[in-house]
Amino acid sequence: MLEKMRPLAEKGHPEVVELRRHFHMNPEIAWNEVKTTEKVEEILQSLGFENIQKGFGGTMCGVTADLTGSKPGPCVALRADMDALPLQEENEVSYCSQNKGVMHACGHDAHTAMLLGAAKVLSQMKDELAGKVRFIFQPAEEHGLKSGADHMVREGVLEGVDVVFGIHVRSSMPTGKIALRSGPTMASCDAWEAVIKGKGGHGAEPDQAVDPTVPAGHVITSLQSIIGREINSQETSVISLGKIEAGSAFNIIPESVKLLGTCRTFRPEVQDMIEEKLGRLIKGISESFRCTSEYVYKKYVPSVINDPEAIGLAKKLGDEIFGNGNVIETSLEMASEDFSYFQQKVPGAFGFLGTAREEKGSANPHHSPLFDVDEDALLQGTQMLAGFALSWKGYSRKD
Ligand SMILES: [Zn+2]
Ligand SMILES: [Zn+2]
Repeated sequence: MLEKMRPLAEKGHPEVVELRRHFHMNPEIAWNEVKTTEKVEEILQSLGFENIQKGFGGTMCGVTADLTGSKPGPCVALRADMDALPLQEENEVSYCSQNKGVMHACGHDAHTAMLLGAAKVLSQMKDELAGKVRFIFQPAEEHGLKSGADHMVREGVLEGVDVVFGIHVRSSMPTGKIALRSGPTMASCDAWEAVIKGKGGHGAEPDQAVDPTVPAGHVITSLQSIIGREINSQETSVISLGKIEAGSAFNIIPESVKLLGTCRTFRPEVQDMIEEKLGRLIKGISESFRCTSEYVYKKYVPSVINDPEAIGLAKKLGDEIFGNGNVIETSLEMASEDFSYFQQKVPGAFGFLGTAREEKGSANPHHSPLFDVDEDALLQGTQMLAGFALSWKGYSRKD
C-alpha cells in the first residue's frame, strides 16, 4: 500500500510546495483565517469530499471534510492548524509574506499544505482505504485564550472519529528525521494572576501606608521554592513570572501590585498541586505584610499525551518513510499545543517533522522573523499523514 502511496506523494509534491508558498504569502492570524479557509474548502470540494463543514467558534474560520474508502473500517482524523502570527517577516525570499505585520513563523502554512497533499493522495487511493478519513483544518492554534481545537471539539468535529493524528514541523531538528514519543509529550499551559493590595501613600512616609511591593517581592523570590521544595523532583514543571504591574511615580507607594505568570506541567495532579500551593504562598505572604490578595489560576491548554498504539504505528511508518535510525524519541517539550483538546476526546498521536537545513536558512527558531521551512521535508510529512490514514486498523487492546 505504501509503495503505491510514495509515487503519488512525489507527483503531488510540487503542488504542496506551491500551496505552502501561497499560504506563506497570505498569512492570517488566529480567528482571521477566512481566505485560508476558503482556499482549503475550494480544494476539498474539487476533490469531491463529503460532509464539508465550515466556520467554527462563531467565525468563518476552519473547515472539515470526509473521505470514505471503498472498504469498511475505522475513522481516522488528520489535523492541520492554519494560523499565522502577528510578526513582521524578515526573510528575503520570493514567497515572503504580503501581509504587513503577519507571518507564518511557526510552520502552520506547511501543515495546511501537507494535509492538502495527503488529501489528494488519499483521494486517489480510495480502493485501498478501509474506513473513513476526516480532514480537520483548524483555526487559532496560537491564540491561547480561545483555542481553535477546543471550539472544534465542542462543535462536534470528532463525532464518529476513532483516532487523531497530527504533525508539527520542527526547525531545531534536521530534515530527514521525525521525533515521536509515547505518553506525556508536551506540557499544559496555564496562567495565574495575583493582585496584592495594600494602602497607597507618600514615598517619604511608608509607615503611613501599607506597601504592597514588599510582599510582591517576597512572592517573586519564593515562587521557585514550590518547584524546588514542594513538588517531587521526578516531576517536570515550570512556574514563570511574565508581567509585573504597579505604581505611577517614583515617590508614590502604590495601592496594589499585579503579578501575571504561567505554569507548565504534564500531569493533572501536579497542575492541581501547583494551583493550590501558589495560592497559599500568595495569601500567606500578603497577610504577613498586612496586605490582602486576590488570586486566579486559569487552566488553558491541556498537555499532549500520546497514545502508545497510535505512536507505535507512527514509528513503524517513520521507519519506512524516513529510513531506519531516523525516528527519534523526542524529549519532553515544555511548550504547549492545543492538539491536546482532540486527544482529550479520542486517543491520538502528535509528531515532529525535522525541517532544519542550515544552507536553506531553515534552522531559525519558531516564532522568529527569520523562521523558514525546508520544503523537501514536506514530502515525508505528506506521506506520514496519508500513511497513517491508510494503515490504522483500530486498537488491539480492549478498553
Ligand atoms: Zn507556534
Ligand atoms: Zn505551531
